[in-house]
Amino acid sequence: MLLLERAYAKVNLTLDVLERRPDGYHEVDMVMQSIDLSDLVWLERRSAPTIVLESNATYVPTDDRNLAVQAAQVFLQETGIVAGVHINLEKNIPVAAGLAGGSSDAAATLRGMNRLFNTGLTLDELAEMGAKIGSDVPFCVYGGTAIARGRGERLTRIDHRCHMYVLLIHPRVFVSTADIYQGLNPSDFTDEPLSTRMVQALLEEQVDVIPGLVDNRLQPVTFAMYPEVQQLSEKVEMVTRHPVHMSGSGPTLFLLAPTIQQANRMYNALRGIMRDVYFSQFVGTVSSLANLQSRPE
Ligand code: ATP
Repeated sequence: MLLLERAYAKVNLTLDVLERRPDGYHEVDMVMQSIDLSDLVWLERRSAPTIVLESNATYVPTDDRNLAVQAAQVFLQETGIVAGVHINLEKNIPVAAGLAGGSSDAAATLRGMNRLFNTGLTLDELAEMGAKIGSDVPFCVYGGTAIARGRGERLTRIDHRCHMYVLLIHPRVFVSTADIYQGLNPSDFTDEPLSTRMVQALLEEQVDVIPGLVDNRLQPVTFAMYPEVQQLSEKVEMVTRHPVHMSGSGPTLFLLAPTIQQANRMYNALRGIMRDVYFSQFVGTVSSLANLQSRPE
């Protein structure tokens, strides 16, 4: 049986860093939002106990450095199932972009293998497995919207019904997440996270207010280390006349629009000056994401 599971990208609607922890990680507080840009994870059961991954992308590893392979390993180990799996990974999410592409592939592999092997595990149980692979994987197991705390693995689900359009601009710059966190100064830390106000706006469906509330405390660090990302952000802001945001540690920039008309205007203005613009959207939950219509031409 060949089974398809979609791996949705995410953007950070807010990202605050509260402190540096004794274990070297940072305590964060962020609002994570799944968007409908997705990789396709095709899974097929094999009787030989091996995990094989193929991908249309030549620039992601296909061995056990790939987070989808790691997810399959964890799943087989934890369930004790003696069998193998063939994974075909169709990458659409830009890699190392701050969009959690790899984490989402891992999460989709866990959900897919749960279906493939009829193991009946709950999302909570899959998220627990996911935490062994990376801090963003538990969020990607559930998808939708959540406040993520701790290293990003402690989640509070937010059920809202806002529908917004997202334009993603991917600068072709490689950003190391570890370097960005290392570049934080104690003055960048806050004990008043922006998530409270954002969550209120989401629950009250204040779609006109939300773009102005998006903020990311890592952005100044990324901009200082990679001035070309800041220059691109300024150019995008000038062309669209709308606030531009950064997802995760970057370098992906994004704009939010409450209506398709506004999103189309911004998209057309941007396509005139650059190639790597992705048109996406979100509503509160992943199941509704699957039902979203793609952009009318
Ligand atoms: P995050 O937002 O969680 O920090 P990201 O979007 O910045 O993640 P990824 O696209 O997950 O970054 O890729 C980060 C690194 O992980 C890359 O260097 C890539 O080689 C490796 N990687 C491992 N598995 C995958 C995968 N399935 N897809 C993409 N990259 C992967």
